Amino acid sequence: MKLSIDTPALVLDRQKLRDNIQTMQAYAEQMGVAVRPHIKTHKCTHIARLQREHGAIGISAAKVSEAEALVKAGMDGILITSPVVTEHKIARLLSLLQRAPDLLVVVDCVANACQLNDACRQANLTLTCLVDIDPGVHRTGVSYAEAQGLARTIHNHTHLNLAGLQCYAGNLQHIATFEARQEASTKAMTQTASVRRQLLESGLPCPILTGTGTGTFDIDSAIDGITEIQPGSYTVMDQEYANIEGCDQQPFNRFHHAMTQLVTVISANHDTHVTVDAGLKALYIDPTQPRIISHPGLSYDWGGFGDEHGKVTATPGVPLPGVGEVLELIVPHCDPTINLFDRFYVVEGNQVVDIWPIDLRGCSQ
Ligand code: PLP
Ligand code: MN
Repeated sequence: MKLSIDTPALVLDRQKLRDNIQTMQAYAEQMGVAVRPHIKTHKCTHIARLQREHGAIGISAAKVSEAEALVKAGMDGILITSPVVTEHKIARLLSLLQRAPDLLVVVDCVANACQLNDACRQANLTLTCLVDIDPGVHRTGVSYAEAQGLARTIHNHTHLNLAGLQCYAGNLQHIATFEARQEASTKAMTQTASVRRQLLESGLPCPILTGTGTGTFDIDSAIDGITEIQPGSYTVMDQEYANIEGCDQQPFNRFHHAMTQLVTVISANHDTHVTVDAGLKALYIDPTQPRIISHPGLSYDWGGFGDEHGKVTATPGVPLPGVGEVLELIVPHCDPTINLFDRFYVVEGNQVVDIWPIDLRGCSQ
């Protein structure tokens, strides 16, 4: 790709991004589920707005500070997908609630429900909550068996509204074969759907059951009782997702690689390798290697070159690139890599047509 921009840089293909958003939305609509995509991947209100324009019912956020930025950008339908427990954050949550009354937050313990209810009572506000269910990752959430008890506790609190359930099985998203992924995710999400049925049968409100990432969106959307999905990586994709198998037993290719990274060779004094200007501060280190797509036969390796530099080697018979040459690569893991950059260079063909700030980058509180 020949672009007149400096490196390292994240390049976003506008048409591919639009296609990805459209593909996910059309699939969900066909399956009768809503999309509340996760902003943790792209951290960009411009992309969130595009997702809303394509029919998303709101935006999911991992952190209160992300939700604050979304509300500031005029967005509604925000779901915070991690428990909010510190006094500081609860105060911020309530101030946000005044501006965004449809805000949703997950809860995974009775003590947190009490804490939120007390804070809401003092502020004379009502907060709408989802019970977070742990599909076995043991990251956040209550067990399937405990979910109904916590749901009732929330429902009985005077200043909390119960709106349903969340179950996100992050550990299943990258299971390599489709069959094994389908079996594991169907098991996890069917159990969650049966908790929803029990809640409804016992007279508790449960309009929402959300979960799902890019690796299981098609599997989970087919499960009766799932009302919405919250995928993120599908917008831009990455090499980790390129390495799993899709539903057709082919490499997972439902979505385009809309985002790539450009890097430049800055030193070429050895027969064995050259050095590029992207190290740990430009590519989040991961067991998966970046994949160089501009130059067949070249491989990227962190190679012990540290924060600022990466090592590029060539398979025998392939010439190494020279100083100043620009390489284009697919990043191993999109979310933490995007969080290292200030902006996307938006391209159509070989033209930079826009620059979009990664305005939620660093919103980790
Ligand atoms: N929901 C939650 C709670 C997540 O933690 C994540 C990603 O880690 C997602 C949704 C999006 O998943 P993916 O990026 O695999 O689409
Ligand atoms: Mn991720």
